[in-house]
Amino acid sequence: MRDKIACTGCAACAQICPDAFISLKRGRHGFDYPKSLDCSKQESCGLCKKVCPQRTDATDQSTIYVARAIDDDEMMHSSSGAVFALLAKNCIDCGGVVFGAGMDASFKIAHRVATTSDDLHQLRGSKYVQSDIGDCYRQARGFLKLGKSVLFSGTPCQIAGLKSFLGKPLCDDPNLLAVDVICHGVASPGIWNEYVTGQKLKEKRFGKLEEIVFRFKDINSSEDSYRFRFRFRSRSLYRHSRKDYFYQLFLRYFTLRDSCYSCDFRGASRSWCDISLGDYPTPQALVPDVSSPLGVNIVLVHSQKGEDSLRNIKDKLVLREVAVDEMIAVLKINTAIELNHERPKEYDRFWRVWSEYGYEKAKSIALPTAAIIKLGISDLCKVIGIHSSAKKLYSVVKKCNLKFRQDAEYHNSD
Ligand SMILES: Cc1cc2nc3c(=O)[nH]c(=O)nc-3n(C[C@H](O)[C@H](O)[C@H](O)COP(=O)(O)OP(=O)(O)OC[C@H]3O[C@@H](n4cnc5c(N)ncnc54)[C@H](O)[C@@H]3O)c2cc1C
Ligand code: SF4
Ligand code: SF4
Ligand code: SF4
Repeated sequence: MRDKIACTGCAACAQICPDAFISLKRGRHGFDYPKSLDCSKQESCGLCKKVCPQRTDATDQSTIYVARAIDDDEMMHSSSGAVFALLAKNCIDCGGVVFGAGMDASFKIAHRVATTSDDLHQLRGSKYVQSDIGDCYRQARGFLKLGKSVLFSGTPCQIAGLKSFLGKPLCDDPNLLAVDVICHGVASPGIWNEYVTGQKLKEKRFGKLEEIVFRFKDINSSEDSYRFRFRFRSRSLYRHSRKDYFYQLFLRYFTLRDSCYSCDFRGASRSWCDISLGDYPTPQALVPDVSSPLGVNIVLVHSQKGEDSLRNIKDKLVLREVAVDEMIAVLKINTAIELNHERPKEYDRFWRVWSEYGYEKAKSIALPTAAIIKLGISDLCKVIGIHSSAKKLYSVVKKCNLKFRQDAEYHNSD
């Protein structure tokens, strides 16, 4: 088994243990780690060590597409171009089952199986928190043994965990389609719990918190989809990632799992997976023929099975293969495909303050002081009910300030 820094939390070791000696327990930085009871069978069994996934080869050649669903309704309920939803519906229509990350009524992010199109709703949309995989590898193995088609989706390390757990020959079963996401990294479930608790304080004013969506799309807004929607019983609140501490901590690489800073499972070629899905950045400029304000997927196809699955849904897609020179541009913008990110400078201080005082005290360490002051004033205005007038006043002041600076520059250049 891996040490804490390298362990991805894929849970293959826990799920393979025939005696249930291993379980995942909350540990460092609010992530789950395998804990084993004393086991005397290390010599005779050793399955938990053998199953820990190692990247072996990455020599396959992937084909790269940009794609999005033709149907705007599919797009509205997906984070990017809805390719996952179309693949998943096709699998269920053919009698198969789909595994993916969902959010339960207490806002815990966990993997689950969808056996009907209605169940799929839960799995759609990105949730930027490490998902509890539970016993889903075991369940998937059960379905495959019954001859069912299985689409298993998750982060690259979860798919590597699944394949390692299944072992040969089941990992090459033609009924299994493995789909992973391009992965920035996953945020801490411990931090997520504290964040949700903070949001729930608003229940006194707005009624029960019923739903949280990480990437909410609004056809009438020019804002991108990187924003939360919190649906309370009496009203919905929206928070753009720019103004949200949880999102900022995630995007600024503070709250990722240790393994995400030296991830073995990145790369445009992934031999353990059939299809990888990500966001296609700035599609208007690069692929005007596929572009949509509702999002576009980048689709990396690593196997013939992946090609066949994409072909099965092609009538429902706007799809185009990406040329090699275009791909170089994509890799430069969507760096998560290939590159690990370093820990930020204030990383250790952030976690020290978090462990001593909790999230509320630690969260502002990640942001520059000016941003904290702005967020604080914005929150205060909301509480005293003058947020929209203050916003208008702020934009007038900003415009005047810009005009003043332009005039000053003009005079200075005289
Ligand atoms: C943690 C995380 C980080 C990501 N980072 C990037 C990135 O840096 N660059 C990029 O281009 N794309 C990234 N993505 C992928 C992107 O956000 C979309 O999920 C992807 O483009 C698929 O979009 P879609 O419209 O086809 O499907 P959607 O319906 O939007 O996505 C659903 C799919 O995402 C999976 N999923 C959702 N949340 C989780 C989770 N917590 N753990 C495991 N699987 C999950 C579901 O199982 C399902 O397969 C990330 C996704 C996640 C979950
Ligand atoms: S050696 Fe075998 S029985 Fe012991 S903990 Fe590992 S998998 Fe379980
Ligand atoms: S199998 Fe997965 S959870 Fe277990 S030690 Fe290895 S990486 Fe960690
Ligand atoms: S960055 Fe790597 S280790 Fe982290 S969740 Fe993604 S695939 Fe797993």
